[in-house]
Amino acid sequence: MDHTTVTGCLIAGQWVDDGPQDQRVGPWTRSVVSSARQAGDHDVGTALAYARHAARQVARTSPAARAEVLERAAAEALRRRDDLARLLALELGKPVKDGRGEIDRVADTFAVSAAEARRIGGEVLPVAGWARGVGNTALTHRAPVGVALAITPFNAPANLLAHKLAASYAAGNTTIVKPPPQAPAASAAIVALLLDCGMPPEAVQLLHGGGAVGSALSAAPEVGVISFTGSPATGHAVARAAGAKRLVMELGGNAATIVCEDADIPAAARVCAVTGYSNSGQSCISVQRVYVHRSAYRQFLDAFTAEVEKLTVGDPLDAGTDIGSMVDDTAAERVVEWTRQAAEAGATITTGGRRDGATVTPTVVASPPPDARLIRDEVFGAAVGVIAYDDFDTVLQTCNDSRYGLQAGLFTQDIRRIVTAWRELEVGGLVVNGSSNFRLDHVPFGGVKDSGFGRESPRWMIDDYTVVKTLLLRGI
Ligand code: NAD
Repeated sequence: MDHTTVTGCLIAGQWVDDGPQDQRVGPWTRSVVSSARQAGDHDVGTALAYARHAARQVARTSPAARAEVLERAAAEALRRRDDLARLLALELGKPVKDGRGEIDRVADTFAVSAAEARRIGGEVLPVAGWARGVGNTALTHRAPVGVALAITPFNAPANLLAHKLAASYAAGNTTIVKPPPQAPAASAAIVALLLDCGMPPEAVQLLHGGGAVGSALSAAPEVGVISFTGSPATGHAVARAAGAKRLVMELGGNAATIVCEDADIPAAARVCAVTGYSNSGQSCISVQRVYVHRSAYRQFLDAFTAEVEKLTVGDPLDAGTDIGSMVDDTAAERVVEWTRQAAEAGATITTGGRRDGATVTPTVVASPPPDARLIRDEVFGAAVGVIAYDDFDTVLQTCNDSRYGLQAGLFTQDIRRIVTAWRELEVGGLVVNGSSNFRLDHVPFGGVKDSGFGRESPRWMIDDYTVVKTLLLRGI
């Protein structure tokens, strides 16, 4: 109990600690690592009422002041990196190596949001181009929506919160954050960091809890925009509760990566091994399906298996660990079960296929059938399927034969194939000479189909977090 981090809710400018608590048992330590004060109906009502009046105050702050806060926060995130990475390791079993990487990205996200805060502008419209407009002037500017709701998932709780909160604040909104129950302390630490760097208390509230709190907030008329990241099932529930509100939905995926015969096969195998298993595969763009041209299939499979076997499994707090634990035992059991089902249907497990508690040994599954859950659904774990293909156009259709469409990877030197894949693949983004699992925080990111809609990255988020407001000057 020595290392338990106690975290309160932040409601109407006050940290509230007393009241019902939920204790988080770390999936690696198997002991209580954090305790979070749970929000109830009364807290939801208080937060919403406060947000309504706070929205006006935040909207009156200048973009310059907001940018300065976010710039200070970027520097401070790097100063606190090791402590934050440690919290992520304790609450989630995420290796500190990955946690530090996530916090580096938090710093980038804050810095990019600061830059975008300074760029929010409007237009002078060419109204005189139409007869009825002659002699008039029309201008637009982007006004904050008012109250934003940010609902975040467990797998990257620091950076995904940073994306939602920083862009919302940059746009001049107040934000209510509903973090994942699996990472309350890490989420609260990001909010506390921003407050320490000068974010006004009116700009943010934090309500811990599960689906009931998220649902009540989603349904609230005070909320003008919801940015949700999580599973499709939850996203659909949020949309139903929200009704006619602005929504940004960042949902699941079963990302594919294609390795063509002209690729550097050993390099592709190395990249897929690292990016297929980082954070135990718990990333929405983690490499889940690798399609390799039949002529290079055996070479890739052997090299990939050898690279995966080099990954170090162990204590997430050790700097050398590549694979810590998954979020809980149930998630780990799902991965092992889907792997077993694929093997029963004719696939070969070349390495892994076991779990110890919440830790899944990195698993490679050769030639799973297309209808295996490991291929068809989102595995969100440390198992990757490797499949041979014969024809490039056909493999693009195979990739598209999915309810998801988030991001894809392509290893080739052939510009024609690159452009064809960019045009044909039903995804929000394509990574060339890299796997699906690569993201730059200042580049638009998001999905199509069941992977959601809207694009996360400060510049595009600010579009969702603001409304275009028109000024018409008659006779001027
Ligand atoms: P989840 O859907 O279980 O939970 C996400 C959040 O929603 C949590 O804060 C949860 O408490 C809350 N929630 C649960 N029920 C709710 C309800 N009825 N109303 C409102 N909120 C509710 O997801 P998870 O297991 O935390 O995260 C994993 C999922 O997130 C995967 O599907 C993954 O692909 C996806 N994800 C997507 C992206 C992306 O950018 N597209 C990024 C990261 C994760």
